[in-house]
Amino acid sequence: MKDDISFSFEFFPPRTEVGHIKLKQVREKLNRLGPKYFSVTYGAGGTTRDNTRDTVLEMLAEGLEVAPHLSFGADDEEFIESLLHTYQEAGIKRLVALRGDLPPELSDSRLVYANELVEFIRARFGEHFDIAVGCYPEVHPQASGYAEDVRYLKQKLNAGADYAVTQYFYNADAYARFLDECDIQGINKPIIPGIMPITNLDNLVRFSDMCGAEIPRWLQKSLSDFESGSEDFLRFGEEVVSNLCEQLIELGAESFHFYTMNQYEPTANICANLGLLEQV
Ligand code: FAD
Repeated sequence: MKDDISFSFEFFPPRTEVGHIKLKQVREKLNRLGPKYFSVTYGAGGTTRDNTRDTVLEMLAEGLEVAPHLSFGADDEEFIESLLHTYQEAGIKRLVALRGDLPPELSDSRLVYANELVEFIRARFGEHFDIAVGCYPEVHPQASGYAEDVRYLKQKLNAGADYAVTQYFYNADAYARFLDECDIQGINKPIIPGIMPITNLDNLVRFSDMCGAEIPRWLQKSLSDFESGSEDFLRFGEEVVSNLCEQLIELGAESFHFYTMNQYEPTANICANLGLLEQV
């Protein structure tokens, strides 16, 4: 068992009652694996605003350590400050601070960069929150250059973020190169790899196109050999992602952030393959 590797689990807030009940069961089981914390995504523009807050507060009441994701979207400072007060008073200690992406109907609104959100939080709440930000080993889709994207990461960390969690990727070389660039630019805060289990090929392809994550050709073609979502597909995906994590551990990763997609088995099986658990 690798005692020195920690891990966290990300959820999206459920939109239906069935999803709500399922997530409750999933987090109970995932909690038995001993994560450092859970996080809950946020729809910039307010699309899941209340859902995120309600899910976070429900998890907190269950005794779980939970980090809400947060971005300005089209909201004003007063709203964000009040939400942060709600979180602070409830006992939340961690946040994931993001710029987010606006839905098309709000595309005229000004996006608030994550470094500005981090500054905003630090100016009003001091050191109360432990703050994570996002980063992109395969480069954020809107960045005009690689080094520039890392400079903006440095800006967010210098604004007071404690560490960064990466967008998912399936190419360990991209992560190694990214760590090198962070090193060159003098970034010395932790960079935690974000890990996406593979559960559905169409969804993965669509989402990867949007967020700028690359599915290597060999991987996409191999996944196409299976029926998406079948047992064989899932086992193959788990093997690929477990191998990726092994490579990341060799590159020095000491923690993983799993994009669980609100599912138990794929993430739990990868953790078990890695020897992070005594048993699943
Ligand atoms: P920023 O760091 O603000 O960067 C956005 C872009 O602008 C980049 O291209 C960057 O190079 C550039 N840039 C940054 N700062 C400046 C500046 N000061 N001036 C000019 N250009 C700048 N999305 C959601 O909607 N909800 C979520 O819950 C969510 N969770 C996420 C969790 C993680 C770990 C990650 C990695 C991403 C998540 N996302 C989420 C996606 C994220 O919101 C999008 O990728 C978004 O487009 C960028 O957010 P950011 O905080 O990384 O942006």
